[in-house]
Amino acid sequence: MLRPYAGRTAKTGFVEVFSNFLYNKDMRVGQRLGIGFGIILLLMVGMAVFVSLSLNRIWKTQNVVNIHTSNTKTVDELEKNIEHWLLTIEHIIKGRDLSQIDYHEVLETSIAGKLKEINMNVYEEKTQNLLDEVLRLYNTLEKLDTTVQMYLRLGNNAPETINIDDATKVFEEDAVRFVRVLDNLKETITESYKQIISYSNRIEGNCWLAIYIVGAITIIFSIVYAFVTTRSITNPLKLLCAATIRIINGSFDVKLNTKSLHEIEELLNSFNIMSLKLNESYKRLETLSIIDKLTGLYNRRYFDESIEREVLRAKRFKNNLSLLFIDIDKFKHFNDTYGHAEGDAVLQFLGRLIKEQVRNEIDIACRYGGEEFTIILPETASSNATVIADRLIMDFKSIKFHIPSKNETAQKTISIGIADLNSSNGAQALLVNADKAMYEAKKLGGNKVCEYQA
Ligand code: GH3
Ligand code: MG
Ligand code: MG
Repeated sequence: MLRPYAGRTAKTGFVEVFSNFLYNKDMRVGQRLGIGFGIILLLMVGMAVFVSLSLNRIWKTQNVVNIHTSNTKTVDELEKNIEHWLLTIEHIIKGRDLSQIDYHEVLETSIAGKLKEINMNVYEEKTQNLLDEVLRLYNTLEKLDTTVQMYLRLGNNAPETINIDDATKVFEEDAVRFVRVLDNLKETITESYKQIISYSNRIEGNCWLAIYIVGAITIIFSIVYAFVTTRSITNPLKLLCAATIRIINGSFDVKLNTKSLHEIEELLNSFNIMSLKLNESYKRLETLSIIDKLTGLYNRRYFDESIEREVLRAKRFKNNLSLLFIDIDKFKHFNDTYGHAEGDAVLQFLGRLIKEQVRNEIDIACRYGGEEFTIILPETASSNATVIADRLIMDFKSIKFHIPSKNETAQKTISIGIADLNSSNGAQALLVNADKAMYEAKKLGGNKVCEYQA
């Protein structure tokens, strides 16, 4: 059944579904579970994507750190090589010693190699410029160095135009500059290494923090969702179980508070209707089980229960209690003469008469069986019971029953036996004695009241 969703404006897509999930009590439990698990799944997928992106970022910064580490190492080695190279050249020039020329070439190659090893892409412009400067100086010194060596190799054949001392001076000045630039480069690389390390640490820290936060949100949502869902399903089910047990134990007037989730509310409502109907049927059954259908008086079953109860009560409060036992005289003959239906009419009439004569809600009038009736009279001594019995005898005798099939009238009489609790010990004795008294009345010819005497 569609019910209006009051108080909320229509929203679209996920927002609508989510707001229904939070506020709409009409949403079916199945849908609610589906959406809840969907959200958990989304959170988990989102978290997986987020974690992989974060790890990728961490991996990238660590890569840059690695490049810096290897660059720092390479620059250290480069510095040592250049130092050695400069010293060697100085030695060659000042000592005019060509024995180390080959070694010098090896060094040159290694310096060129080291320069290539430095990964320049990772540096900012400032460092890049310094590197360019290093390269430029290296190339100049290499040329100068080659010239000096050539000159030395030529010995006395060297052209006059080249002044070795001037060349040496230029070389030395450039070498000093080279060393300074190299120092500068090293410092800059070290500084940027420190920066990249702290940046990398910060990135890594932030990524982990964000992963923890998203993870915590996912876990908290899942726990709260599981708790709320379980409670909102198990609590009403527990109530339902308890109510079912009450019904099993015979209490049918069970009413549950139905405010709950959609299908559960339907289930609880149905349960309440079922319990109400059971209760009504039980009451009807209870009435039917104690009432005699023909006369509307209580039946034998109810008499048996009541006489025990009333005797106990009378004894406890030391009250009087009398019992009348009524039997229609020669009723078999009446039935045989006029038929069973006419007999039933007489029984019904006697039932009505008894009802009129007894006190409502105090006396208990029953059809004991066949054409026999009993009346329990609480707080009534046998002398008062005799008055009631006499009145019944008189009233009944005076009635003329019209028999349409025979077009005649008939009259009937009853015999009544009375016993009270003073002369009878318990419920059973009371009944037996009242019955005996009734037979005494029959023996006297019927249409009589007899009181049992112990
Ligand atoms: P007595 O004066 O000794 O009591 O004679 P009686 O004929 O009344 O006694 P008996 O116990 O021999 O017969 C009782 C009769 O009551 C038998 C039966 O025909 C009649 N009877 C019992 N129950 C019903 C009933 O539900 N409807 C009708 N119409 N008759 C009934
Ligand atoms: Mg009888
Ligand atoms: Mg009889």
